[in-house]
Amino acid sequence: MPDGAARPDLRADCANCFALCCVALPFSASADFAVDKRAGTPCANLGADFRCGIHRELRPRGFAGCAVFDCFGAGQKVSQVTFGGRDWRGDPRAGARMFEVFPVMRQLHELLWYLNEALALPAARPLREEIRDGLAAIERLAMGSPAELLELDVAAHRREAASLLRAASALARGAGRGNADHAGADLAGAGLRNARLRGADLRGALLIGADLTGADLRSADLLGADLRGARLGGADLTGAIFLIQAQLDAARGDAATRLSPWLTRPAHWTADGAPSGRPRATGTSAAPGSAKRPKPQRASGVSRSPRRRGGR
Ligand code: SF4
Repeated sequence: MPDGAARPDLRADCANCFALCCVALPFSASADFAVDKRAGTPCANLGADFRCGIHRELRPRGFAGCAVFDCFGAGQKVSQVTFGGRDWRGDPRAGARMFEVFPVMRQLHELLWYLNEALALPAARPLREEIRDGLAAIERLAMGSPAELLELDVAAHRREAASLLRAASALARGAGRGNADHAGADLAGAGLRNARLRGADLRGALLIGADLTGADLRSADLLGADLRGARLGGADLTGAIFLIQAQLDAARGDAATRLSPWLTRPAHWTADGAPSGRPRATGTSAAPGSAKRPKPQRASGVSRSPRRRGGR
């Protein structure tokens, strides 16, 4: 199991966050969001109690992007640690800073998640000391004051982490043994039925709407791969590296899709991989999860984002 998955501080805890993702981040009207919203403006669906008023209907109401967002625990960190429990409604001046700090913290926590996973990869043992050092450095940065956090050169830290993650991935995938290299490739809508992609490098690949039915994706590196609407029915993703729950939540799989045990089969996946979010005769619910608010999806990372950068 990736260590990140076992760390509660790297999992969204909406009950201890002042809905920062619903205010701080902008979104544009698209297939993922029904409306436009500016950064720093509360979403019209956000209640006075910091709860989403349409949580159980996000997909049918056109907010699928919210259902697949993950802050990696940045929301509660900024709310409870960086700002010591002050909320933006009670302290609007602090609120403006919180909204600036949140995207920075999210990127740091995202790095922590991936570095923790790299640390747990048995094949990456030779890099463990380096990864531990990288982790410790990011942990220290994440404990900074608002001013310190806003001064960070996050892009530089991302580059450093990316190089470590790439090296860990190469070891874990057994790179150099003829593995396919599709890193950053535009494979949107591609027909990859039953494709042999075991140990492939698919980091940052655009796989929107790709047909990966029955594909062998064991040990493939899927860091930042955009899997929105990708068909994963019957695909084998056992041991896929740097694959996060939010990516699966944005894809379409079925009961035959094979996953590593630390990942959860999304509730909206259907028995036969039919399009998600549509009402089905079986009565399959499109409601995502049971948290008071959704886990909105990643906005940026060490590679291409599954969704547009800077959005949520
Ligand atoms: S989860 Fe999405 S729809 Fe709900 S309040 Fe937050 S931003 Fe708005």
